[in-house]
Amino acid sequence: MKDLTTLGIGGPARFFCEAKSEKELLEALRRAREKKVPWYILGSGSNLVVSDKGFPGLIIKANIRKFSRDRSKVLAGAGNELLAFIRKINRLGLGGVERMAGIPGTIAGAIYGNAGAYGQEICENLRRVRIFDGRNFRWLSRRACRFFYRDSIFKKHKNWAIVEAEFSFKKGKPKELSRISREIIKLREKKYRPSLLCPGSFFKNIIFKNLPKSAQKKIPPDKVMYGKVSAGYLLEVVGAKGLSKGGIKIAKHHANLFYNSGGGKAQDIKKLAIILKDRVMKKFGVELEEEVQYLG
Ligand SMILES: Cc1cc2nc3c(=O)[nH]c(=O)nc-3n(C[C@H](O)[C@H](O)[C@H](O)COP(=O)(O)OP(=O)(O)OC[C@H]3O[C@@H](n4cnc5c(N)ncnc54)[C@H](O)[C@@H]3O)c2cc1C
Repeated sequence: MKDLTTLGIGGPARFFCEAKSEKELLEALRRAREKKVPWYILGSGSNLVVSDKGFPGLIIKANIRKFSRDRSKVLAGAGNELLAFIRKINRLGLGGVERMAGIPGTIAGAIYGNAGAYGQEICENLRRVRIFDGRNFRWLSRRACRFFYRDSIFKKHKNWAIVEAEFSFKKGKPKELSRISREIIKLREKKYRPSLLCPGSFFKNIIFKNLPKSAQKKIPPDKVMYGKVSAGYLLEVVGAKGLSKGGIKIAKHHANLFYNSGGGKAQDIKKLAIILKDRVMKKFGVELEEEVQYLG
């Protein structure tokens, strides 16, 4: 699995297949049932920490690609790459996703975790999502997807497969939208150098108003931005920058950026995460929650 994740970590999967259509997806699920093995759907593996032991079942790479447009409405497949999608949407003069340029991964991966950056989230322009729920294909309205900050109903229904999504965009100017995307990509490359083996931000930021009063008092007001406290700030205070365990390192320039410097192990990432969650809990009374998804 290490070759299928941006962190470059993970032992072998027992079975692997790529599903390029709904029919192939059904066939893959049928085979998993037949062999009585667990299955897991993979996008681009950019938000995953896979166990060093690997996965004892079938990994299904959902690579269903499609793209069609009817005025402001756009239909995209689960496996379409998010960046290529954004570039196309920009060129069509449709606005609303340009600031998310540079987030790696697929359309389905972005929907699963309600990916977002620089003030935009994937849920904002979504109208509905088509899924296979284990029995039927059906559409879920945006409301039914229960999107929140880096959260959605899909995190609670791991046996659902996202197959496609319908978006609706406002009008924009193609050149302006493309310029914004280009600038944001440049900014992002300062934080994430292109060859870095990492899964993006490790922990979610914290929604300030959800914290108990005792924890709120410990956070300086200037550290609350757009209603959130960055996990990076909390981690920096407890000394995370530059820490390492085995091949896993925490960036010196960003305390919420865990990366694999070579030969990194999932067990080392998990150990570091436990140590840092504990330190943040002791210092601030705040419980950090992983943004990355663990497999195994
Ligand atoms: C350098 C870097 C920068 C990043 N920056 C950001 C950022 O700014 N903002 C942000 O939100 N994220 C960021 N991320 C995290 C990551 O890119 C996103 O979470 C992305 O949306 C994951 O998409 P993916 O296709 O790689 O999903 P994967 O990592 O393959 O999977 C993520 C989850 O989605 C599920 N999933 C995938 N496809 C399907 C499907 N078809 N049906 C059902 N479930 C599915 C998987 O089972 C898994 O649980 C960054 C990652 C990296 C490496």
